[in-house]
Amino acid sequence: MKRKNLWAPWRIEYIQRLSESNGCFICHNLEHPEDDDKNLVLWRTKKSIVILNRFPYNNGHLLIAPIRHIPDLVQADNEELLEIIELVRESQKALSLTIKPHGFNVGMNFGRCGGAGLPGHLHIHVVPRWDGDTNFMSVCSDTDVVSQSLSELLEQLKKISKEHNLPKLQGS
Ligand SMILES: [Zn+2]
Repeated sequence: MKRKNLWAPWRIEYIQRLSESNGCFICHNLEHPEDDDKNLVLWRTKKSIVILNRFPYNNGHLLIAPIRHIPDLVQADNEELLEIIELVRESQKALSLTIKPHGFNVGMNFGRCGGAGLPGHLHIHVVPRWDGDTNFMSVCSDTDVVSQSLSELLEQLKKISKEHNLPKLQGS
């Protein structure tokens, strides 16, 4: 019960965001480059965007999405497919250099019944894992602290990206 109450504020923000840009926060973020820091955008590439998930399963949870609002891999072209997979690799590099995870979960959910929180816009989750990690949500009980740590982590990831010239993509 404690956890549910503490996490209510971001749920309200989440619902508000869903009503913007036809309910798609990825498209919303794409349309507002001036708010990239606020929206936790890490990278913009030719065909894709990489965002630090505001509602993370674990510290450093990134979302990789094509620029086009397409629901699944069937509608992605080969260039998009290559780039989003390259970005999984580059995200793992950046996270490894920044917060040194022991492993990763990488995955996609399709459709509401598949567990997608945002069914209309294809995205890949990259979730860092550590040996013996517990549920991040239950550990980080303070929403303000989480919000601040997300901004700090974004800064660290940007700094590391600059130092190591990430993301390195075939097409760029
Ligand atoms: Zn979209």
